[in-house]
Amino acid sequence: MKGYIHSIQSMGTVDGPGVRTVVFMSGCPLRCIYCHNPDTWQIDDGQIISSEDLVNKILRFKPYIKNGGVTFSGGEPCLQAEFLCEVSSLLKKEGIHVALDTSGCVSGRDVDRLINITDLVLLDIKMTTEADYIKYTGGSLYKTLEFLRKLEAVGKDTWIRHVVVTGINDNKEDVKRLSRLLKEFSCVRKIELLPFKKLCVEKYMQIGIPFLLEDTAETDENLILELYKYC
Ligand code: SF4
Repeated sequence: MKGYIHSIQSMGTVDGPGVRTVVFMSGCPLRCIYCHNPDTWQIDDGQIISSEDLVNKILRFKPYIKNGGVTFSGGEPCLQAEFLCEVSSLLKKEGIHVALDTSGCVSGRDVDRLINITDLVLLDIKMTTEADYIKYTGGSLYKTLEFLRKLEAVGKDTWIRHVVVTGINDNKEDVKRLSRLLKEFSCVRKIELLPFKKLCVEKYMQIGIPFLLEDTAETDENLILELYKYC
Protein backbone atom coordinates (compact mmCIF):
# COMPACT_ATOMS: atom_id res chain seq x y z
CA MET A 1 0.00 0.00 0.00
CA LYS A 2 1.15 3.57 -0.60
CA GLY A 3 0.97 6.70 1.54
CA TYR A 4 2.07 10.32 1.51
CA ILE A 5 4.81 11.59 3.78
CA HIS A 6 6.13 15.10 4.18
CA SER A 7 9.52 14.30 5.74
CA ILE A 8 11.43 12.14 8.18
CA GLN A 9 13.38 13.43 11.16
CA SER A 10 15.97 10.77 11.94
CA MET A 11 16.55 11.40 15.64
CA GLY A 12 13.97 13.44 17.48
CA THR A 13 13.91 13.78 21.25
CA VAL A 14 10.67 15.66 21.96
CA ASP A 15 7.93 13.50 20.41
CA GLY A 16 7.64 10.61 22.83
CA PRO A 17 10.06 8.66 25.03
CA GLY A 18 13.75 8.25 24.10
CA VAL A 19 15.38 8.97 20.77
CA ARG A 20 12.84 8.58 17.99
CA THR A 21 12.50 8.68 14.26
CA VAL A 22 9.65 11.07 13.53
CA VAL A 23 7.68 10.62 10.33
CA PHE A 24 5.69 13.69 9.35
CA MET A 25 2.67 12.56 7.37
CA SER A 26 1.01 14.76 4.75
CA GLY A 27 -2.52 16.06 5.00
CA CYS A 28 -4.43 17.76 7.79
CA PRO A 29 -8.10 18.75 8.04
CA LEU A 30 -7.43 21.33 10.78
CA ARG A 31 -6.03 24.86 10.41
CA CYS A 32 -4.58 25.66 13.81
CA ILE A 33 -3.74 29.32 14.13
CA TYR A 34 -0.30 28.47 15.56
CA CYS A 35 0.50 25.58 13.19
CA HIS A 36 4.22 24.98 12.71
CA ASN A 37 3.80 22.75 9.71
CA PRO A 38 1.50 24.44 7.18
CA ASP A 39 3.57 22.73 4.49
CA THR A 40 1.99 19.41 5.56
CA TRP A 41 -1.63 20.53 5.10
CA GLN A 42 -2.16 19.28 1.55
CA ILE A 43 -1.92 15.49 1.35
CA ASP A 44 -0.86 15.34 -2.29
CA ASP A 45 1.98 17.81 -1.76
CA GLY A 46 3.67 14.94 0.05
CA GLN A 47 6.06 12.33 -1.26
CA ILE A 48 4.36 9.08 -2.21
CA ILE A 49 5.96 6.01 -0.66
CA SER A 50 5.13 2.31 -0.18
CA SER A 51 4.75 0.85 3.30
CA GLU A 52 7.75 -1.45 2.70
CA ASP A 53 9.97 1.45 1.61
CA LEU A 54 8.96 3.54 4.59
CA VAL A 55 9.65 0.65 6.98
CA ASN A 56 13.05 0.08 5.37
CA LYS A 57 13.93 3.76 5.71
CA ILE A 58 12.96 3.68 9.39
CA LEU A 59 14.87 0.46 10.06
CA ARG A 60 18.10 2.16 8.97
CA PHE A 61 17.87 4.07 12.25
CA LYS A 62 17.14 0.97 14.33
CA PRO A 63 20.43 1.05 16.31
CA TYR A 64 19.73 4.62 17.41
CA ILE A 65 16.06 4.25 18.26
CA LYS A 66 16.16 0.88 20.01
CA ASN A 67 15.42 2.56 23.37
CA GLY A 68 13.01 5.04 21.80
CA GLY A 69 11.04 4.25 18.69
CA VAL A 70 9.05 5.82 15.89
CA THR A 71 6.49 8.62 16.11
CA PHE A 72 4.00 9.31 13.36
CA SER A 73 3.21 13.00 13.34
CA GLY A 74 2.17 15.48 10.71
CA GLY A 75 -0.07 16.83 9.46
CA GLU A 76 -2.68 14.47 10.82
CA PRO A 77 -1.42 10.86 10.68
CA CYS A 78 -4.89 9.37 11.26
CA LEU A 79 -5.94 10.60 7.81
CA GLN A 80 -3.77 7.75 6.50
CA ALA A 81 -4.73 5.25 9.18
CA GLU A 82 -4.95 2.24 6.87
CA PHE A 83 -1.45 2.89 5.51
CA LEU A 84 -0.07 3.41 9.01
CA CYS A 85 -1.68 0.19 10.25
CA GLU A 86 0.38 -1.64 7.68
CA VAL A 87 3.59 0.27 8.45
CA SER A 88 3.13 0.02 12.23
CA SER A 89 2.43 -3.73 12.12
CA LEU A 90 5.67 -4.28 10.21
CA LEU A 91 7.58 -2.11 12.69
CA LYS A 92 6.10 -3.93 15.67
CA LYS A 93 7.36 -7.22 14.21
CA GLU A 94 10.83 -5.63 14.32
CA GLY A 95 10.34 -4.76 17.99
CA ILE A 96 10.03 -1.00 17.39
CA HIS A 97 7.94 1.11 19.79
CA VAL A 98 5.31 3.08 17.86
CA ALA A 99 3.78 6.39 18.94
CA LEU A 100 1.05 8.36 17.23
CA ASP A 101 0.92 12.16 17.50
CA THR A 102 -2.64 13.15 16.65
CA SER A 103 -5.27 15.80 17.26
CA GLY A 104 -7.92 13.08 17.46
CA CYS A 105 -10.01 14.72 14.76
CA VAL A 106 -10.38 11.64 12.52
CA SER A 107 -12.42 8.57 13.39
CA GLY A 108 -13.31 5.25 11.75
CA ARG A 109 -12.52 1.57 11.77
CA ASP A 110 -8.96 2.00 10.51
CA VAL A 111 -8.26 4.61 13.18
CA ASP A 112 -9.50 2.14 15.82
CA ARG A 113 -7.18 -0.51 14.40
CA LEU A 114 -4.28 1.94 14.39
CA ILE A 115 -4.89 2.83 18.04
CA ASN A 116 -4.74 -0.87 18.91
CA ILE A 117 -1.43 -1.38 17.12
CA THR A 118 0.13 1.81 18.53
CA ASP A 119 2.00 1.69 21.86
CA LEU A 120 1.54 5.31 22.89
CA VAL A 121 -0.74 8.12 21.73
CA LEU A 122 0.35 11.75 22.00
CA LEU A 123 -3.02 13.47 21.92
CA ASP A 124 -3.04 17.20 21.22
CA ILE A 125 -5.83 18.99 23.04
CA LYS A 126 -5.59 22.28 21.27
CA MET A 127 -8.12 24.41 23.09
CA THR A 128 -10.18 23.78 26.23
CA THR A 129 -13.56 25.16 25.12
CA GLU A 130 -15.54 24.19 22.05
CA ALA A 131 -15.84 27.85 21.00
CA ASP A 132 -12.06 28.41 21.10
CA TYR A 133 -11.42 25.09 19.40
CA ILE A 134 -13.62 26.03 16.47
CA LYS A 135 -12.28 29.57 16.34
CA TYR A 136 -8.56 28.76 16.46
CA THR A 137 -8.36 25.36 14.73
CA GLY A 138 -11.49 24.79 12.67
CA GLY A 139 -11.99 21.51 14.53
CA SER A 140 -13.98 20.31 17.54
CA LEU A 141 -13.01 19.69 21.15
CA TYR A 142 -15.92 17.22 21.43
CA LYS A 143 -14.37 15.09 18.72
CA THR A 144 -11.00 15.10 20.47
CA LEU A 145 -12.61 14.07 23.75
CA GLU A 146 -14.49 11.31 21.93
CA PHE A 147 -11.11 10.08 20.67
CA LEU A 148 -9.77 10.21 24.23
CA ARG A 149 -12.74 8.13 25.42
CA LYS A 150 -11.74 5.48 22.87
CA LEU A 151 -8.20 5.51 24.22
CA GLU A 152 -9.57 5.12 27.74
CA ALA A 153 -11.81 2.24 26.69
CA VAL A 154 -8.85 0.24 25.39
CA GLY A 155 -6.47 1.41 28.15
CA LYS A 156 -4.02 3.00 25.72
CA ASP A 157 -1.10 4.87 27.27
CA THR A 158 -1.68 8.52 26.41
CA TRP A 159 0.30 11.72 26.77
CA ILE A 160 -1.66 14.94 26.42
CA ARG A 161 -0.05 17.91 24.68
CA HIS A 162 -1.36 21.44 24.89
CA VAL A 163 0.24 24.44 23.19
CA VAL A 164 0.10 27.58 25.32
CA VAL A 165 -0.30 30.64 23.12
CA THR A 166 0.28 34.20 24.30
CA GLY A 167 -2.96 36.14 24.62
CA ILE A 168 -5.14 33.11 23.73
CA ASN A 169 -4.80 30.44 26.42
CA ASP A 170 -1.76 31.48 28.49
CA ASN A 171 -3.54 31.59 31.83
CA LYS A 172 -4.17 29.36 34.81
CA GLU A 173 -7.95 29.16 34.16
CA ASP A 174 -7.26 27.48 30.85
CA VAL A 175 -4.85 24.97 32.37
CA LYS A 176 -7.24 24.25 35.24
CA ARG A 177 -9.98 23.62 32.66
CA LEU A 178 -7.66 21.24 30.83
CA SER A 179 -6.98 19.44 34.07
CA ARG A 180 -10.73 19.15 34.78
CA LEU A 181 -11.36 17.75 31.29
CA LEU A 182 -8.77 15.05 31.90
CA LYS A 183 -9.74 14.08 35.43
CA GLU A 184 -11.87 11.06 34.47
CA PHE A 185 -9.21 9.52 32.18
CA SER A 186 -6.88 7.02 33.79
CA CYS A 187 -5.12 6.32 30.45
CA VAL A 188 -3.45 9.76 30.65
CA ARG A 189 0.11 9.23 31.86
CA LYS A 190 1.50 12.69 31.27
CA ILE A 191 0.48 16.25 30.38
CA GLU A 192 2.89 18.38 28.37
CA LEU A 193 2.41 22.14 28.12
CA LEU A 194 4.27 23.39 25.07
CA PRO A 195 5.28 27.00 24.50
CA PHE A 196 4.09 28.73 21.32
CA LYS A 197 7.11 29.37 19.04
CA LYS A 198 7.49 31.27 15.80
CA LEU A 199 10.08 29.16 13.97
CA CYS A 200 7.51 28.63 11.25
CA VAL A 201 7.27 32.24 9.98
CA GLU A 202 9.47 31.56 6.98
CA LYS A 203 7.43 28.49 5.95
CA TYR A 204 4.30 30.65 5.77
CA MET A 205 6.15 33.21 3.66
CA GLN A 206 7.37 30.51 1.28
CA ILE A 207 3.88 29.05 0.88
CA GLY A 208 2.43 32.53 0.51
CA ILE A 209 -0.18 32.37 3.25
CA PRO A 210 -0.43 34.83 6.15
CA PHE A 211 0.74 33.72 9.59
CA LEU A 212 -1.88 35.34 11.80
CA LEU A 213 0.30 35.20 14.93
CA GLU A 214 3.31 36.90 13.40
CA ASP A 215 3.10 39.76 15.92
CA THR A 216 2.31 37.53 18.89
CA ALA A 217 5.13 37.03 21.39
CA GLU A 218 6.53 33.53 21.93
CA THR A 219 5.42 31.99 25.23
CA ASP A 220 7.79 32.56 28.13
CA GLU A 221 9.26 29.26 29.41
CA ASN A 222 8.93 30.52 32.99
CA LEU A 223 5.20 30.97 32.47
CA ILE A 224 4.97 27.37 31.29
CA LEU A 225 6.70 26.21 34.48
CA GLU A 226 4.27 28.31 36.51
CA LEU A 227 1.24 26.89 34.64
CA TYR A 228 2.32 23.31 35.32
CA LYS A 229 1.24 23.93 38.92
CA TYR A 230 -2.39 23.98 37.76
CA CYS A 231 -2.52 20.72 35.85
S1 SF4 B 1 -3.32 19.62 13.62
FE1 SF4 B 1 -1.12 19.97 13.56
S2 SF4 B 1 -0.59 20.00 11.38
FE2 SF4 B 1 -2.82 20.24 11.53
S3 SF4 B 1 -3.13 22.45 11.48
FE3 SF4 B 1 -3.04 21.82 13.62
S4 SF4 B 1 -0.92 22.09 14.26
FE4 SF4 B 1 -0.99 22.09 11.99
